[in-house]
Order: sequence, then structure tokens, then C-alpha cells
Amino acid sequence: MYRKLLRYSNKIFNLFDIIASITDERIKPQIPTVKIVATIIIMHFTNQGSLNNLSQEIAYKNFKKDIPSVSTIARSADSINTEEIRNVGIEIYTKARKSKMLEPCHGMWVGVVDGHEQVTSAYCKCPYCKSRTVTRKDGGKDIQYYHEFTAFILAGPKISFILDIEPILPGEGEISSSYRLMERVCKNYPKAFKIVIGDGLYLKETVFNLLEGHHKHAIAVLKEERRQLFEEANRLSLLSEPKVYRQNKTYYRVWDHLVEGCWDGYGKKVRVIVSEEATPQRVHSKDGRSFENRVNRANWMWVTNLPCPESEDTDDLKNTVRICHSRWQIENQCFNETVNTWNADHIYRHSANAIIIFLLLLFTCVNIFNIFRLRNIKDERVKTKIYLIELIKAGFHTTRNLLPSILSIPPIPI
Ligand SMILES: [Zn+2]
Repeated sequence: MYRKLLRYSNKIFNLFDIIASITDERIKPQIPTVKIVATIIIMHFTNQGSLNNLSQEIAYKNFKKDIPSVSTIARSADSINTEEIRNVGIEIYTKARKSKMLEPCHGMWVGVVDGHEQVTSAYCKCPYCKSRTVTRKDGGKDIQYYHEFTAFILAGPKISFILDIEPILPGEGEISSSYRLMERVCKNYPKAFKIVIGDGLYLKETVFNLLEGHHKHAIAVLKEERRQLFEEANRLSLLSEPKVYRQNKTYYRVWDHLVEGCWDGYGKKVRVIVSEEATPQRVHSKDGRSFENRVNRANWMWVTNLPCPESEDTDDLKNTVRICHSRWQIENQCFNETVNTWNADHIYRHSANAIIIFLLLLFTCVNIFNIFRLRNIKDERVKTKIYLIELIKAGFHTTRNLLPSILSIPPIPI
């Protein structure tokens, strides 16, 4: 399976050709950058989880002559060009989109943006570590160091595709970093999406205006109760009847208000969508002997500048609510899954550049892996991702030819 995945990446996405142009800033490098990037990709594909694991694999199987040592990989990662790595992501995306490997989310191309905290440590290891003071249970104070980034994904019905990430630097908040991220994503992927969804933080006129400047619509969660928009939406909900429908097991009561003049600074009309959701559920009772019925309730509010539907049809509204909910994909499929399954929170090399390089390459690998699994695994016995990863790992352990002949390393230009 290991060889199959590498062959697939190379045949469909030309992966090992497009990484050939990546450079770094080492002076007089002995080992070409492409070899280093290829090794990092293999490490991610085979889910090694750390450079230490990889070094054991190299030592045990005597691959020293084939692949660079982990200290070389770490040192080079400090200066590998991030723009060139991002271009690899763009090429993979272009190919996937052209070959219809990606699907729209409920009929729309939807981008989701959010921030994620990567790792915490008691030691400051680089000038870009963010810090915070934490009070322990016994009242003492600790300083905690951590790294954060914002990510931008393309939501989809089966898989989500991670487009780009941007570090959150010390002294700045998530929004400053996400401006840079959204600007770049809109420039690099101009036609990839029409709507961008963010959580409550993104309910800012600057975010809405920035996206409008790129001809994108925005959706943001409304949860600040002090806000005039929130109060106005609640007042309007009391006055009008909701649309009521059922989808799967959940019962929805949804209002769609057009609000004007309640958002200083934005000045245009916005839609506020209010959704009250109730899902009956059968759960184990507390004594563990029988079942009881419970109703899970959730209330959601979103603000958006999406145009109002032309018809009074409930289907349009149903779809909009589904699109608003697709924001969860970034939490589930991007952050939780890559952290739990792919070890995305591990710091392979602690420097500002290397952290981003390893993450960008990891996300490229995860994107390819997801597409590979969806389109190329016909064997019904391979039911879960974890099992497929184990198969790839097993193939990696038994292979004799780590970097197959498909990978032709070009001579170092001098
Ligand atoms: Zn750091």
C-alpha cells in the first residue's frame, strides 16, 4: 500500500516533480532540498509522528545512503522557502479540482477559517513563541509558551481540503493573522470558494469588507448577547413565525431576518439566521439498566451578507442552514483529526519557519491521502482511515526501496 500511495501521488499529482523546484538557504548544501522534502513527505505519509521515529527506521534498515539524516532535515527545514511549499499545495488543489476530485458543499463552494493552538510548553524555545501566565491549583503562577496558527479549509460533503495556514505571531490576535491568510487564499485560490464562514470572532466589518472586496460572501456566528444585532434578531423572532421542518432526526425552527441599521461600521443590510434545533435521542439511563429519551437542544445564530433567496421556498433556507453548520468541518476534520490521527501538534523542529513547513507538508499529505482513500481504495475490507494508515506503515516497514525509482533526484545546480 505504501508503494501504491507513492505511485498514486506521483502519477496523479506529479508530487515528486513539483517538489523538485523547492529551495532552502543553506550555504553549500551537500544534499538537495528535494530529497529532504521527499523524506518529510514520506515521514508524514507513513505517519511516523516524529523525526526520532524516522531516525530509528533509517538506522534499522540501513537507509543512511538513501535519505538524509534527521539533523540535516531539521536544519534545512529552518530555511526551506514557505512560498514554494505553498505553491505545491496550489498545484495539488488545481489538479484535484480540474479532475473533479473535490465536490461542493451543499451546492456551494464554501471556505472555513479558524484558529488553532498547537502546543504548550514550559520552556520558551524560539523568538516566536507566544506566552501566557497560568495560575496553578495551588495558587502559584507558571508561564506557558505555545504556538498558534489560523487555517483555511474548503468544506466538502466527504472530505475537506486544507488550503493554507498562517502563524499567529506573538502580540497579535487570531484576526490579524487571518487577514493575511484570507488575503493570500483569495489571491492564490481566486475561484475556489464563494462563501467564507468563521466563528463569532469573524463578525467584524473589516472581515466582511475584505471578503466583499474579493467578491466573496461571509457568514459569521452571532453569539454576543450585548450586540444590538442579537437583540434585534430576538425581537424580530418574537414577532414572526419560523419555518419549521425536519431533517434526519433533528427538528428545526428557523427564522431568516433582514436587519438594517443595527451594525455600526458595516452600514449595509445583513441577514440574521436564527435556528432552534431539537434532536431526540435515546440514551442509557443513569442506573445503566434501561434507556431514556432525551432531547438535545441547540440554538444558533448567524450573520451573513448572502443575498436573500428569491423564492419563499424552505429548501433554500434549509440549504443555507446546512452551509452555516459546515463550519464544524474545520474543528472535526482539520484540527481534531489531524491532531489525533496525524500527530499535527507535534513540533518536529522548533523554529518559526520549520513549524510551518512541517505543517504545510503534513496537510498536503493529508489532502492527497484523503483523495487516495476516497477514489482508489475499492477493497471493502479497508473500512477505516486508521486501518489504511496501518497498511501503508506495514508496506513502509517491508519495503527495500524507500524512495522508489519514480523519484529521480535532479543534480544540484551549482
Ligand atoms: Zn517557539
